[in-house]
Amino acid sequence: RFISLEGGEGVGKSTQARRLADALRARGLDVLLTREPGGSPGAEAIRRLLLEGDANRWSPSAEALLFAAARADHVAKTIDPAVAAGRWVICDRFLDSSRAYQGAAGGIGDAAILGLHQVGSGGRLPDRTLVLALGDADAAARADARDAGCPDRIGGREQGFHTRVAAAFRDFARQEPDRVRLVDASGDEAQVTDRLLAALADLLP
Ligand code: C5P
Repeated sequence: RFISLEGGEGVGKSTQARRLADALRARGLDVLLTREPGGSPGAEAIRRLLLEGDANRWSPSAEALLFAAARADHVAKTIDPAVAAGRWVICDRFLDSSRAYQGAAGGIGDAAILGLHQVGSGGRLPDRTLVLALGDADAAARADARDAGCPDRIGGREQGFHTRVAAAFRDFARQEPDRVRLVDASGDEAQVTDRLLAALADLLP
């Protein structure tokens, strides 16, 4: 199975990716935890291009192309071989981050992002996408306020960027309810992990 974990800044996504991988391993599953951008040697090289140096180094379209290229390599070299070997792949960010960050908030548009994904990765989609979301709209506003001066941000992010990212993830869950599930990211870590497992219940052996 292929599961992606998504969400805006500061929702505890990477912590929960680790916890979810551990919880699935405790159930006897063979789990590969991986992340975007990166997850294969070629994609890690592209990650460095994206995250190092001047935040405004890339135009929005060049940034979208680099993400699509990194994803194509990650799918071909890491994700598909692992799934074919019967493993469970948990991916910290995938296509829906590009749809939210570059497509919706960055202005590239959803159709263009999906088109790049078709070319790069044959349109490969996760079996399930879990979006960690804080019900409180202030979380995105706090991320917007914090973003100026953040060392690992990508691109120049104007006011309202993270609010648009959060709204985009909610739209995806409405549009594709079978694949994309919103998961409440509030409460303690164990509670959030339990909610993630509940949102996978129908896929678990
Ligand atoms: O997953 P993490 O939050 O560590 O992501 C690192 C950075 O990359 C964040 O600033 C995130 O907003 C950004 N990012 C992006 N577009 C993507 C994926 C991540 O701008 N498609």
